[in-house]
Amino acid sequence: MSTREGNLEAPTRHAIDWQDPKYHDAADCDKELERVFDICHGCRRCVSLCNSFPTLFDLVDNSSTLEVDGVDKKDFIKVVDQCYLCDLCYMTKCPYVPPHPWNLDFPHLMLRAKAIKFNNGEVKKSEQLLASTDLQGQIAGVPIVVQAANAFTDLKPVRKLMQRALGVHHKAWLPKLATRTLSQSAAPSQPDLTPRNGERTPGKVAIFATCYVNNNEPQIGHDLLKVLSHNGIAYQLVNEARCCGMPKLELGDLAAVRKAKEANIPLLAQKAREGYALMSPVPSCTLMFKQELPLLFPDDPEVKLVQDAMWDPFEYLVARHKDRLLQTDFKTELGNVSYHVPCHGRVQNMGRKTEELFKLVPGTKMTVIERCSGHAGTYGVKTEHHATAMKIGKPVVKAMATAEADYMASDCPLAGHHLAQGMDEQQLPKPALQHPISLLRIAYGLS
Ligand code: SF4
Ligand code: SF4
Ligand code: SF4
Repeated sequence: MSTREGNLEAPTRHAIDWQDPKYHDAADCDKELERVFDICHGCRRCVSLCNSFPTLFDLVDNSSTLEVDGVDKKDFIKVVDQCYLCDLCYMTKCPYVPPHPWNLDFPHLMLRAKAIKFNNGEVKKSEQLLASTDLQGQIAGVPIVVQAANAFTDLKPVRKLMQRALGVHHKAWLPKLATRTLSQSAAPSQPDLTPRNGERTPGKVAIFATCYVNNNEPQIGHDLLKVLSHNGIAYQLVNEARCCGMPKLELGDLAAVRKAKEANIPLLAQKAREGYALMSPVPSCTLMFKQELPLLFPDDPEVKLVQDAMWDPFEYLVARHKDRLLQTDFKTELGNVSYHVPCHGRVQNMGRKTEELFKLVPGTKMTVIERCSGHAGTYGVKTEHHATAMKIGKPVVKAMATAEADYMASDCPLAGHHLAQGMDEQQLPKPALQHPISLLRIAYGLS
């Protein structure tokens, strides 16, 4: 075995062998947790990334042996529970990832431990409900019901009740449901448009709207459609799609992830076969199709087809620009933009495409903050994690609030609201919050 420190080769990632019964063997998983925790204890590079590593190092430092072997295995789950699978440790810090012979994949080991916990029935029903974004979709878009539900969840006693019953922290920012979903209200693509394929980009786009944009913030979707139309790009919404499965993955509910995959992949693969670029406006959902499903289902050719056709919106628009097919007739200067790069965008390995695109907009300067907001799916709203989530986001909040910005933006809409909440709580100046796609619509001068 090599003893060299660090990894000089490009990281590779192994498929997740979750269909193998050994994957769900708790004793075998504990053995692997102990091996990996021991390497991490000797390394400690990730201490500032999230709360998993400080939790681990505190357990070691308070153990009788001052080593991982002194930690009670029952406490391993405390480390696992703090991981929200952002992937940053794997993608940005760890020198021991494959092909290094130590073969360390911290997030996917956390996923294995989460899957075992889920199978043992140890994940609370309230957490499962919170991750069921498709359920919210059943009432989104029904005006009277939505208005009542939104008003109801604004009430302080109701928030206290939600804290007790659902484990949702009473102070955490919660999205509102839309009275009209994106799929109910999207403008149709321009008729008679002949798609112009570029060298890098198909000239037509099929949009996986995401539960969040469809049910909670359809304006982001409308703005995306306006930007595409302005650039002569034909589009379709994949309206029959369901949640991508990321919230279920975060719980270790792999059977639910499989169900989501079985519902979505045939629809998206069909669009890919018809020559559409696939696009999702929320980085976590894009990552699900680009990385997690291909690792969970490595032998499924349709999953591979979808992976290859899937784009982040700004990755697509920058490639479109390289194809000399992007309009650069910007009409509105945006001034200073405080911009947060979400973790699930960073780990897509595509570079900082949002920043790259805004360099084309005259009179616009982006201050880029590349650090986790702490929101992390449902982690930031849960009672037991909300305070930690706010703490993780504090340096980002400070950096964004001091930039004297006209706007603040994050490709992850939830991270954007979480950071805005941090500014309110710390009474820091809060620039106008806009999603980067909405900023682009403003820059084009589109109403
Ligand atoms: S994946 Fe993210 S949350 Fe999980 S341990 Fe790594 S850095 Fe922490
Ligand atoms: S995940 Fe890798 S970089 Fe991070 S503490 Fe463990 S060994 Fe070190
Ligand atoms: S910033 Fe967004 S993508 Fe990154 S961990 Fe938080 S919620 Fe997930």
